[in-house]
Amino acid sequence: MPPRPDIHPAEATAIAAPPSSPWRLVQDALSGMGGQTLGRFCGPRGQAAAPLSQDPAVCALMRSHPEAGARCREQCDQGVARSIASGRAQLFQCHAKLAVFISPYGGGNADTPAEALLGGKVFTDYQALQGFRAYAADLGFGRKDLDPLIPDLRMVPLDGVRQFMDQARQVTETFLADHRRRHTAQAQNERIGYLFEIFGALETEPVDELPLAVLHGLGILFNCPAGLLLANTDIDGLTVRETFSGNSPLFAEDELRRVTINTTLPWVQEALLGRPEQPHDAIYDLLKAGFPPETTSVELFTIASTPRPLVIALLNTRLTPIDRRAIGMFCRHAGLLMEREAIHGELEREFPDTGPAPQRWDTADLDQLAAVILEQAVAASGAAQASVMLVEAAEQQLRVRAIDGLHLKYVEYVRIAHGEGIAGSVWARGKPLLVRDITQEPELTPFRRSRYRTHSFICMPIVLGDRVLGVINLADRRDGAAFDARDLRRLAPIAQKAALAIDRVEARRATEVLRRASMTDYLTGLLNRGAFDQRLHEEVERAQRYPYANPLSLLVVDIDDFKRVNDTYGLLTGDDCIRACAQTLKEGTRNIDSVYRRGGEEFTVLLPHTSREAALTLAERLCRAMAAMKVVTKNTPTPIAMTISIGLATLPDDGHTDETLFKRANQALHRAKQSGKNRVVTLPPEPLTP
Ligand code: GH3
Ligand code: MG
Ligand code: MG
Repeated sequence: MPPRPDIHPAEATAIAAPPSSPWRLVQDALSGMGGQTLGRFCGPRGQAAAPLSQDPAVCALMRSHPEAGARCREQCDQGVARSIASGRAQLFQCHAKLAVFISPYGGGNADTPAEALLGGKVFTDYQALQGFRAYAADLGFGRKDLDPLIPDLRMVPLDGVRQFMDQARQVTETFLADHRRRHTAQAQNERIGYLFEIFGALETEPVDELPLAVLHGLGILFNCPAGLLLANTDIDGLTVRETFSGNSPLFAEDELRRVTINTTLPWVQEALLGRPEQPHDAIYDLLKAGFPPETTSVELFTIASTPRPLVIALLNTRLTPIDRRAIGMFCRHAGLLMEREAIHGELEREFPDTGPAPQRWDTADLDQLAAVILEQAVAASGAAQASVMLVEAAEQQLRVRAIDGLHLKYVEYVRIAHGEGIAGSVWARGKPLLVRDITQEPELTPFRRSRYRTHSFICMPIVLGDRVLGVINLADRRDGAAFDARDLRRLAPIAQKAALAIDRVEARRATEVLRRASMTDYLTGLLNRGAFDQRLHEEVERAQRYPYANPLSLLVVDIDDFKRVNDTYGLLTGDDCIRACAQTLKEGTRNIDSVYRRGGEEFTVLLPHTSREAALTLAERLCRAMAAMKVVTKNTPTPIAMTISIGLATLPDDGHTDETLFKRANQALHRAKQSGKNRVVTLPPEPLTP
């Protein structure tokens, strides 16, 4: 069935790439980093390659309206087709006041078919947002339609949209160019996958060891003969702080340590600015800069730039453009982490923790944290009425998280926009506001509240670096006096500690998201090898305590003759088969069991509390289920049949450690293959050695 001409990516799930495809991974990652919508459209009619990442709820609402929906189709859907046909990029404000870009690329030939990216879909400023509100009201939408959109509203300045458009196009082009060369791309995707995993792990590295972790991570992953972590000691030179030596006889460790790089050379300076990321292979230039004479090429990546540059140099390493971009992003990410730690360190030195029970600041719960901030601010100021408002990152609005003197219920739904009212303007300016007598300040009188007894109040922003995370509002000093500068001084350290604690909660959340992503296999959505190694270790430890009452079984599963599937139907269909196999394994096991893709077309299944006999029954059922299954894909004329072989090992029968258990299961798998495949094998008990 041909696609509907007006099909929209939000509805395109059925025809789209699955969430674990390499393109989805890249699209989601890009969209996440840019904080904007992104989608790729192929072919002359502009069909979606995958559902849009982060498509805002605003668009779904607009499309539900007959008149507005027609404009959406005219501006976005047909806009994509027009851009692909004409090759012209567009950056425009749509009828709903969102900034949208459509960026075509590709040459329209077999190697590089014409395609386009569509993205952005953010408000570039507050006026645009207000414009959207008015427009929505004209269309007849009310509060109950608009309120659910709030968590999803995103603001990015126009420059940010333009920059994202260019970067996303460059990354997409290089990704696709590489991806079309499927064989190298497969290995490479795995590498990029690992890079994303390391991304997650970086958050938990101690910050001092972070640059070294980055250097070694890249060195191993990209198979570098040698790598250097360079830092500056004087104005004109970078010296080696750490080295990485791969298995190459070319570079001697002590020779690498002595390297000093001359930063007065223009090409080195360019590279230190991180732009453009490209290989340097003019040997004479490299020698002049101070690299060892064995160096034939250098790739430089900046973690931090001036005034204290920190640079990674990978020597004689072959990188593709997509590797280079991914590494560039990776290093910038590491740099940001270090910067954040530095801000924390400075603030902690400036405001050492002297308050009572410091661990109370260290909570993972924002409401609890807001209550602590409130309590401390009230104690320091003697205010009878107080509240703590935090900026909701997704909404870009202030919300009351803790309040004194009034029930939280009354204000739970209050949202304050950037610049709105007193709290909103303190948020916008990032400076504390102390009002001794509101009746003396004509521009503030509209904000006067009759429930306050006194005329004096304080509104204190919670600031970290250049970000405002919330505000503390204090009114009505218990002694009836006006607030003064001393109150501000007492509140400053509380606001600073609050900023650190809030940022910690946010960082912890982000790390959790990355951690989860790093345990997942991108092709099948199963747990990956890292998760398996960790879990096997834990389960073995648990089972070792009562091995006979609490046996643990392990299956190692390998698809039979899979090379033939790849050779006959192609790698993409092979991937579909791997996914189908994953699905069958998942469906054929119990909730307490866990299934992993250990690599390639090899899986493992951990069966806790399961004896050898019970595991054998389950494994044989899995074999039968696989043999009975037929994989149907849209690219292959006939359903594909597959069988699997399984090696089974059980603790305590086969051994007591994770290594022996895994080794025995693998040996059993080997025998299953030798003895005809499509079967389960366990090894006979080993003869006792005297
Ligand atoms: P055997 O019955 O002995 O297992 O034969 P086999 O052909 O399955 O051999 P083996 O397990 O050694 O090789 C597995 C093949 O699976 C090799 C590789 O080309 C292919 N493969 C590995 N990973 C992937 C993947 O992610 N996608 C696809 N499509 N193929 C993969
Ligand atoms: Mg196989
Ligand atoms: Mg195999």
